[in-house]
Amino acid sequence: MNRRLSKPFTPYYRGRFAPSPSGPLHYGSLLTAVASYLQARCNHGCWHLRIEDIDPPRQQKGAVRQILTSLRAFGFDWDGPVRYQSQRLAYYQHIAAQLYKDQLAYYCQCSRKQLSSSPEARLGRNYRGNCREMELAPLAGRSLRMRVGTDHVAFNDGVFGRQNYDLQADSGDYVIYRADQLPSYTLAVSLDDIHEGYTELVRGADLLHLSARQLHLMQQFTPQPVQFMHVPIITDSSGQKLSKQNHASALDTRHRSFLLYSALKDLGQEPPKYLSRRSVANIWDWAFSRWQVSLIAPEMMIKQGF
Ligand SMILES: [Zn+2]
Repeated sequence: MNRRLSKPFTPYYRGRFAPSPSGPLHYGSLLTAVASYLQARCNHGCWHLRIEDIDPPRQQKGAVRQILTSLRAFGFDWDGPVRYQSQRLAYYQHIAAQLYKDQLAYYCQCSRKQLSSSPEARLGRNYRGNCREMELAPLAGRSLRMRVGTDHVAFNDGVFGRQNYDLQADSGDYVIYRADQLPSYTLAVSLDDIHEGYTELVRGADLLHLSARQLHLMQQFTPQPVQFMHVPIITDSSGQKLSKQNHASALDTRHRSFLLYSALKDLGQEPPKYLSRRSVANIWDWAFSRWQVSLIAPEMMIKQGF
């Protein structure tokens, strides 16, 4: 007798941390890693690591090794093999060609200079579809843009609450393949996030404005894309975002307990002071039992707390 076993529906959490190897991890990236790791583990889910290495001019030699070494030193324990975007370039290209063929995307010949001097750009808006109806051929030096409709894109962010974007007014038709023949950030992460089956993306609030177009793109492939949760980005005392481009200092693993404690504090978790002198394992144990998303401040930026 042929019988189909009915499986119980078990919603399973899958999260990820996705650094780019443009330099070693800094305190801002630690904060995002801590939030995404706790969110995954406290939801009994898995947590994966993906290296976003598709922008060679911005990459630094040895950065991947440095990133993995410091994550290990801070006690992060990821599931499965580390994934590399550079191994999927052919796939991104294939899907971009498919979107063009299906007329969901079109080629644009506007130069960077033309775009930045347009009246729309001066109003803080993005692309207004100059090339939308031109039916341009796929030639070198042209970017590929995704057509956006008039529908708004709305979602509930785990920290920032209800978000509502008018893609046409906010960004316009957005680039999925760049004029320099590299996939855009939105294309690469959207395809990977679908392929790798994440249920929630925890990342820095500087990416909040990109979430609407990521959702728009993911919706072309799946009816149930993903949840989002954005955490504040960290600035130095002068208000500058900590970033590899601004030469934020690399995480010093000798002070890992203090740094981990500080990250929990900056995420609003109110760790007791004595924790800053405990082992990394002790700090994680405390965090696993106390993690509360509702304590994270819905702020775009916060000043580094030490
Ligand atoms: Zn154009």
